[in-house]
Amino acid sequence: KTFESMNLNPALLQALASEGYTTPTPIQTQAIPDVMAGKDLLGIAQTGTGKTAAFALPILHRLAENRIAPVPRTSRVLILSPTRELASQIAESFKTYGRHLGFRVAVIFGGVKYGPQERALQQGLDVLVATPGRLLDHMQQKTLDLSRTEIFVLDEADQMLDLGFVKPIRQIVSRIPAKRQNLFFSATMPSEIGKLAGELLKDPVKVQV
Ligand code: AMP
Repeated sequence: KTFESMNLNPALLQALASEGYTTPTPIQTQAIPDVMAGKDLLGIAQTGTGKTAAFALPILHRLAENRIAPVPRTSRVLILSPTRELASQIAESFKTYGRHLGFRVAVIFGGVKYGPQERALQQGLDVLVATPGRLLDHMQQKTLDLSRTEIFVLDEADQMLDLGFVKPIRQIVSRIPAKRQNLFFSATMPSEIGKLAGELLKDPVKVQV
């Protein structure tokens, strides 16, 4: 399997070539075609497996297939991550892989000023990566509106549980339209996370690496 044979957008193939990615990792081979086709995904995978590109590449491909001008205070894609470090890394990956596509990508986490985040949201986004607490603050302040979110990604779900984020996640998801694509990643599947996955995912493809 190659990235070319998956029919990824040529702008993505060009970015992958510049990054020196020659071969997809196993989770990428298994996940990319189904995510490109719009299916829900349950991925059991650790960091270091190439998990970020496994969702970032097909998401960017889908955004590029159907471009929509940014609408203030909304984002087409929402990715929840448990920590600011991971959220920042994910946003950087979207910027790297999407460098020839011109999408608006932002990251939002707690412990920093609201002003710059509010200004980024005000522009409208294609991709928003966030930690749950600060995202809820923006929803309550009405500086973020999830009513146009098309793709939802929950990363490191088991870490979310350890950090007490399951209730905030349910609150956030309740504001996203039901007609959406869901991608759910966890390294392990404790029962509470299995339950959350069952609530969120519709007829998911399961990938384990
Ligand atoms: P992740 O599991 O998403 O944290 O990715 C782990 C590391 O692997 C990151 O530094 C990526 O840049 C790198 N990586 C992901 N996919 C590939 C690939 N197909 N070829 C080479 N490196 C990759």
